[in-house]
Amino acid sequence: MSKPDELVEDHARLRAELMRPGREIITLGDIDGRVTWLEIECERCKRYGRFAVARLIESYGRRFTLPSVPWAKSQDCPHRRANSEFDRCGARFKDRG
Ligand SMILES: [Zn+2]
Repeated sequence: MSKPDELVEDHARLRAELMRPGREIITLGDIDGRVTWLEIECERCKRYGRFAVARLIESYGRRFTLPSVPWAKSQDCPHRRANSEFDRCGARFKDRG
């Protein structure tokens, strides 16, 4: 089990890695064992979800890319098909600052 502090650190490291220019797209398999939970939020819908990486791998497989996770987990968002960009669902990884 991760302590909360380790969880925050994992997220910071993960985000730094995702931002690194030229980095290959990270897959669920890449973060397996390093990150326990992924947090996704949508400011538009005021929704929030926390997903265990192990369960995501069970559902989507190790080669599923990380950027696809917010997309996959917001399929049921009422704003998903909004025509206006300002109305559209904004599901993304939660920013821990
Ligand atoms: Zn949404």
